[in-house]
Amino acid sequence: MNTTQPKSPQLEQTRLLRTAVPGPTSVALHAERMQQVTTGFGVALPVFIERAEGGILQDVDGNRIIDLVSGIAVTSVGASNPAVQARVAEQLSRFTHTCFMVTEYVGFTEVCAWLNAHTPGDFDKRTALFSTGAEAVENAIKIARSATGRSKVLVFDDAYHGRSLLTMAMTAKENPYKKGFGPFPSEVYRAPMAAPFRWPSGAQNATAEALAAVETLLAERGAHTFAAMVVEPIQGEGGFIVPAPGFLQGLQQLAARHGIVFVVDEIQAGMGRTGRLFASEHEGIVGDITVTAKAIGGGLPLSAVTGRTELMNAVHTGGLGGTYAGNPLACAAALGVFEAFEDGTLLANARLIETTARRMLEPLLEQTATVADVRGHGAMIAIEFADRGTLAPRADLAKEVVARCHEQGVLVLACGTHGNVIRLLPPLVIGLDLLEDGLGVLCAAVAQAEAFALSETVPA
Ligand SMILES: *Cc1c(COP(=O)(O)O)cnc(C)c1O
Repeated sequence: MNTTQPKSPQLEQTRLLRTAVPGPTSVALHAERMQQVTTGFGVALPVFIERAEGGILQDVDGNRIIDLVSGIAVTSVGASNPAVQARVAEQLSRFTHTCFMVTEYVGFTEVCAWLNAHTPGDFDKRTALFSTGAEAVENAIKIARSATGRSKVLVFDDAYHGRSLLTMAMTAKENPYKKGFGPFPSEVYRAPMAAPFRWPSGAQNATAEALAAVETLLAERGAHTFAAMVVEPIQGEGGFIVPAPGFLQGLQQLAARHGIVFVVDEIQAGMGRTGRLFASEHEGIVGDITVTAKAIGGGLPLSAVTGRTELMNAVHTGGLGGTYAGNPLACAAALGVFEAFEDGTLLANARLIETTARRMLEPLLEQTATVADVRGHGAMIAIEFADRGTLAPRADLAKEVVARCHEQGVLVLACGTHGNVIRLLPPLVIGLDLLEDGLGVLCAAVAQAEAFALSETVPA
């Protein structure tokens, strides 16, 4: 099916502020939400969206907000991608659900075939589909345990793997993800991440020293008792940390030497986000199992575990599944996403986004006192706020900059173990003019926030 007929955007691709952000209609709807919805859900910007397309979110007050988040790396092909819309509409017209464990449909097989062919690794693979990222990570652990007969799981500092019980245990940060939700499953061990910017003895030592720490941990705990080692090729929620060169390769070798299943969590960094189909490709690593979610479903809930056939088929028949696993509408959406990536334009866009972002953000390293690092790959770029010299994290500034961007109609998100990182995850279909406008607002907000912080601390 060819569904990529050119379609001009229906939503004007410019920023527009018609009211304050949030505007009066959003404020009223948010007040109603507070009467109905648990306060356990936070919200980054309490604005209600009416339409979204390209790089624009249009709210109920008619404001057009620049989207530098993509619903946390989900709508990489755009929130109204024609290929996704056409395939979902076609599937919707036939049926919504059968449960793949009850009766089958071809969309499920086609998504698995694409992932088997395109995820890193030149070996025979099989795929299992699920609905959420956390569910896929948990299933990767189930598969690794079943295949190895071992139970332990190795994860890393600053890791994020989800909000279910096992994936909370695998996630590093206590607040907000784990606070008050324990006790957690046992058998999860954490090793240092080779994080170049904050490595105590300097970035140049990060790989060797972090790998030595992993070896020590494996020796102490018994390498032969570990089923899986799980790592993000670029850490997402933990602060857009790009591991020091050679660290991921070193992990892969350690895992192979000890018969540990090497699981790469590509949920945030994968599916074209970093300018390659999978972020693993930047370091040339190959997971025995690769976990995907977020952008693969084009906005519909879909996740996948793809791995070596001998691992994936080690589980007893009936051991894996889920009512909604690989739902037909979500599979149709994913096939639309794969189609949208076919001609290479979106991957090229991700690289153009990086060039533009670096051109506008890297000068902040000289021009400001607190932008201490600019990092990432492709359309996954972040700036970290810290004092010069001491590197004391400045979450206060990240928060202030985010608030100023939101007021100006530019949606950005903070992240990081210390909350002092601002991350950019624009849709890969954003126009460069719109991106430049959004980055300009961000740069101005940094200058304003620094001036404001100084005026607060230095008495006049
Ligand atoms: C978002 C995310 C998850 C969890 O995905 P959900 O769909 O929210 O369950 C796991 N790992 C990484 C790296 C993520 O970014």
